[in-house]
Amino acid sequence: MKDFAYLRAGSVDEARRASTDPAVMLLAGGTTLLDLVKCGVAEPSAVVDISHLEGLDAVRVNDHEVSIGALAKMSQVADNEAIKASYPAVSEALWQAASAQLRNMATIGGNLMQRTRCVYFRDPATFPACNKRTPGSGCAAIGGVTRGHAILGASTACIAAYPGDLAIALLALDAVVCLGDRRVPIGEFFLLPGDTPDREHSLMPGEMITAVTIPASPAAKRSTYLKVRDRQSYEFAAASAAVGLEFEEDGRTIRDIRIALGGVAAKPWRAGNVEAALKGKALDAEMVRRASLLAVEGAIAHGDNRCKIDLVPRIVARAILTLGGQA
Ligand code: FAD
Ligand code: SF4
Repeated sequence: MKDFAYLRAGSVDEARRASTDPAVMLLAGGTTLLDLVKCGVAEPSAVVDISHLEGLDAVRVNDHEVSIGALAKMSQVADNEAIKASYPAVSEALWQAASAQLRNMATIGGNLMQRTRCVYFRDPATFPACNKRTPGSGCAAIGGVTRGHAILGASTACIAAYPGDLAIALLALDAVVCLGDRRVPIGEFFLLPGDTPDREHSLMPGEMITAVTIPASPAAKRSTYLKVRDRQSYEFAAASAAVGLEFEEDGRTIRDIRIALGGVAAKPWRAGNVEAALKGKALDAEMVRRASLLAVEGAIAHGDNRCKIDLVPRIVARAILTLGGQA
């Protein structure tokens, strides 16, 4: 581990100014950053502590939207009554993430910014080839153990999966990431790897996440997050789906449906083709199962992760049918 300086930001502006230097990193809960420093992936010259900045941990709800401050703790947001009532997928995604201890430390901004769990990425001493860590060095995962890797949105340069849960629920519910005054729809915040897997998001030097907003909607109110993993706690998703559903007045015809996938794609992944196939149709279990197969249209497996091609449509169908009372 390389030594680094510790700075304590006096304000958001001070933190932003310090982080215009790419060698300086923001420190919120520290649960990811310090891991990355210890394993030699992150080598900041300095970390700027933002964890104490006032006003960035509030959860504010009105009839139109909720605004969640970047420094709100995962556990605080998961347990918020208004979130549970009007955005249940968000609460469920957070409850199923990490462990109680981590959720009490970790923040919403830090959660969105977490890095891939690709084991080759996290072990530079053993695996020097990683285009995400060292552009142009190759990819040790291709041809290696790939069970946790992406089947959607990957490239020949990188097949890493985005690991987080919260971003999947936020994508399904059309959230917006606030970078001070600049607001970026979450679907545009994360970038596909292409030839530059080291660029993972649209944050510019000197910018930081200040909040996330989610518009209120009937589909957000009737939403859920289904996560399948190797063990029931303290484990990243093998595959997950966040789904929001709204019916017409007849209680059967789908007026609005939102589906996002986690654990299986290079970035949080919207299954727009499944949504299009179901919108305007009456909910029917067989039709839902057929439409859910579209979720893996274009998927490319790499050895060990082939099981995800079977898993994803089942998860999507189960989440939809659970929300529709037909599971
Ligand atoms: P930090 O570690 O402080 O920061 C993380 C990164 O975000 C750093 O690069 C930092 O510079 C940057 N950053 C922090 N705040 C901001 C901001 N406001 N603006 C811009 N950049 C910022 N997550 C899941 O979703 N699901 C899981 O199942 C899960 N399991 C886990 C299991 C383990 C063992 C561990 C260690 C982590 C797990 N996590 C999981 C990840 C965990 O949720 C993240 O570590 C946590 O959310 C990061 O938040 P933090 O505040 O500690 O971020
Ligand atoms: Fe690195 Fe991506 Fe290859 Fe993993 S999959 S080793 S993160 S380039």
